[in-house]
Amino acid sequence: MVSTTYFAPRIIHGAGSIDKLDEACRAIRTTSLFVMLSERTKQSLANHFEQLTANGISLHFFTDFQSEPTTDHLQSALHHFELSKADGILAIGGGTALDLAKALSVLAANETLTLGDIAQQEQLDKIPLIAVPTTAGTGSEVTKVTVITDTALKRKLNPGHPALIPDGVLLDPELTLSMSPKITAETGLDALAHAIEAYVSTRATAISDTFALEAIRSIGRSIRAAYQEPQNLQARDGMLQGSMFAGLAFSNSSTNLAHATARPLGTRFLLPHGLSVALMHPYVVAFGLDAAHDRYAAIADALGTESVLVFIEELNVLFELKEEAKKLLDLDELERSIPILVDDALSGNGIETNRKIPTRQDITEIYKNLVTDLMGE
Ligand SMILES: [Zn+2]
Repeated sequence: MVSTTYFAPRIIHGAGSIDKLDEACRAIRTTSLFVMLSERTKQSLANHFEQLTANGISLHFFTDFQSEPTTDHLQSALHHFELSKADGILAIGGGTALDLAKALSVLAANETLTLGDIAQQEQLDKIPLIAVPTTAGTGSEVTKVTVITDTALKRKLNPGHPALIPDGVLLDPELTLSMSPKITAETGLDALAHAIEAYVSTRATAISDTFALEAIRSIGRSIRAAYQEPQNLQARDGMLQGSMFAGLAFSNSSTNLAHATARPLGTRFLLPHGLSVALMHPYVVAFGLDAAHDRYAAIADALGTESVLVFIEELNVLFELKEEAKKLLDLDELERSIPILVDDALSGNGIETNRKIPTRQDITEIYKNLVTDLMGE
């Protein structure tokens, strides 16, 4: 099989690497930077921004977005970017800031295109982009995918194109120390799912496998400590590196059924992405185990466990994910919505690349099992 692998061109990594922000900006030759971040991050990194200004880079801040990026946020960002006349983009934050910035970097340079057109283009111009994740994470800083909810269609769009890969990445685990245990758990399990799904995907390659197994090892040995000891810098670094490797893995392979079944929970029930994926993942592993025995054995080995399924189920219990889901979901409504969720799952990515291709009935069973378990809790 012939495959093409895409990397991020420049990754500056290590505790305190945010001090290299100036170097990252020089590398993309920007003199006017459009900065996407939360108000809180803006305050906490104020001295770094003063430094950039002192070095002759003018800054235009954009903070007008919330969790889970939408086409409305993107329109607003495009509008403000045009007004700013900036020549570079810096995104500092979780998956929301990064995914919006990636879409912006391509659409701002291709005014006639929409999000839905990106994947079909051969070559795309772009505004240079630096990505600085503050969560671990989506791995969005190194992937060629952006996930944005189309508010009109009520569907998550996830176009992929190499032009969406950020040009510079700063991976500083100190920026992730303030993640709450809940976010650490949910986004950490999402990252683990990225690596596991990439590894069992029919699109996996020898290169994506290497990233996936390293991600699984790194996250497997760090996730409990990062959750239980928020200030453990080594564990935070393990999670940040792990989510980056997981990003490289799935960006060059694919995510599969856990993501396909999780996406509708986000669009229809506004359940956070990480929580949705973490909830669905055990059912999907149980469904696919018999079709990829060797692959799951290698994953178990990387996790240092006998059973992948037991490992992730135990984490879901430790992190109290079902309790959290029950707070956010109307279970009767969820049960009634199963046919719609199945339609949504079947129409998204990750079905054809699943090692065992699920039927409509299989996906219905997976959602039913989820509802039964949540009702039984
Ligand atoms: Zn994910």
